[in-house]
Amino acid sequence: MPSQDAIIIGSGPNGLAAAIRLAQTGKHVTVYEANETIGGGSRSAELTLPGFIHDSCSAIHPLGIGSPFFKTLPLEKYGLQWIQPSAPLAHVWDDGTAVILERDIKQTARNLGRDGATWSRIFSPLASRWDSLAPMILGSLLRFPRNPFLLGYFGVWAIWSAKFFARRLFREEKTRGLFAGLAAHSTLPLEEPLTASFGMVLALTAHAVGWPLPRGGSQKISDALACHLKSLGGEIITNTRVENISALPNANAYVFDVTPKQLLQIAGEKISGRYKSQLESFRYGPGVFKLDYALDAPIPWKAKEALRAATVHIGPTLDEIAASERATNQGRVSDAPYVLVVQSSLFDDTRAPRGKHTLWAYCHVPNGATIDMTERIENQIERFAPGFKNRILARSVMNPAQVESRNANYIGGDINGGVQDFFQLFGRPVWRLNPYTTPDKKIYICSSSTPPGGGVHGMCGYHAANAAIKRAWK
Ligand SMILES: Cc1cc2nc3c(=O)[nH]c(=O)nc-3n(C[C@H](O)[C@H](O)[C@H](O)COP(=O)(O)OP(=O)(O)OC[C@H]3O[C@@H](n4cnc5c(N)ncnc54)[C@H](O)[C@@H]3O)c2cc1C
Repeated sequence: MPSQDAIIIGSGPNGLAAAIRLAQTGKHVTVYEANETIGGGSRSAELTLPGFIHDSCSAIHPLGIGSPFFKTLPLEKYGLQWIQPSAPLAHVWDDGTAVILERDIKQTARNLGRDGATWSRIFSPLASRWDSLAPMILGSLLRFPRNPFLLGYFGVWAIWSAKFFARRLFREEKTRGLFAGLAAHSTLPLEEPLTASFGMVLALTAHAVGWPLPRGGSQKISDALACHLKSLGGEIITNTRVENISALPNANAYVFDVTPKQLLQIAGEKISGRYKSQLESFRYGPGVFKLDYALDAPIPWKAKEALRAATVHIGPTLDEIAASERATNQGRVSDAPYVLVVQSSLFDDTRAPRGKHTLWAYCHVPNGATIDMTERIENQIERFAPGFKNRILARSVMNPAQVESRNANYIGGDINGGVQDFFQLFGRPVWRLNPYTTPDKKIYICSSSTPPGGGVHGMCGYHAANAAIKRAWK
């Protein structure tokens, strides 16, 4: 007899979501986590100085607050408290201004000059129906969409490349830059089809649910998920790296919160044939170079309005952002990289000692790159905030190898569990009717290497658990 119902390998947001979904149906679930702490890409730690709480990976959570599965869970009861900054995003410019992406579409439109009406026309019908749209775009591809017209309306724009979308629809340089910064979260060249979808989803979440941060750091999301799992009878064992499936207790279902490369290493003996060769050809994307700072004071942005947003994008133009992302994808780095910045302590006083501040920043680099981007990133911030460098008390530096050493899923520093281009966004990890299943009815994959991909939303875990529930106990 199996000694467990289900074993989850990895306690990232998707592993915990899968565990909760299985436990909700009465299954006895055990999660094995390689690290000392739970949460994978949703963790926080004192990376610089005592009293400064930094998010090691994720910091801002539109997909977390907008997740159809998380929304059903009592996470607030377990200490999760979302903080909504006064604006979701600021995009800073050399002339000392910032374009603000506001929660309110009309207010955003007013910030966008001649493009305001177009912005409203595209995003209003979708943002007002986010609750219907989210389950379809973050949902299982197996189900016929509940509202095909709404999905179709999203799809006709989403299929475009971000560059084409921005140039075709917007006339203002600043709106084009704003959209490019949103779409560049994809880590793809902005000339690729479907990159507009990333910009659209992030713009929509800004209007529909906001871009919040958890009070106390992203660890609080993981802790709340873990507490809820335990309340359902689940168990989590940390400090235990699973090297081989045969070393695990017998179970009906093994649900892997890992990427294809690791799945092959851990369960390769049970995987063969075409599925194995498909996993072997899975492609990983660019990595990240990440910096965390303890600061003496807030960032001295030239554009004071940038202090209204937790997230700041540094590009600034469509052409510069596109060039930076193209370089990364061609194995080079830009001297003026596109940089993502989060200033959590402006909105959450638990992150730093009184009067002091934290700063989270990263840029994209080629997979596995060893180049030190510290100076380039700091020069970019200084360009829009003269005097920034004088406010640094301490910094933590992570190149792609260091990012991977803290979480084995970030192969070569790739934070999305694999390239999310046209072929690999839907067909991840392989093109298969149910991508969470494998040919072995006991083995499932639930990481961000499955649809809908990267981000702290738990939807990959939710769908993988549902696949296991349907199949593993038959
Ligand atoms: C720098 C950075 C910034 C990011 N910013 C954001 C953001 O602002 N917002 C957002 O939504 N997302 C962000 N992300 C992405 C987000 O963190 C990931 O997409 C998300 O965590 C993926 O969840 P997951 O459960 O699939 O995998 P992960 O969170 O990576 O979790 C995988 C877990 O499995 C464990 N594991 C791996 N191998 C083994 C093994 N052999 N045995 C046992 N355990 C194992 C790992 O230790 C880890 O805990 C960011 C990521 C990084 C690195």
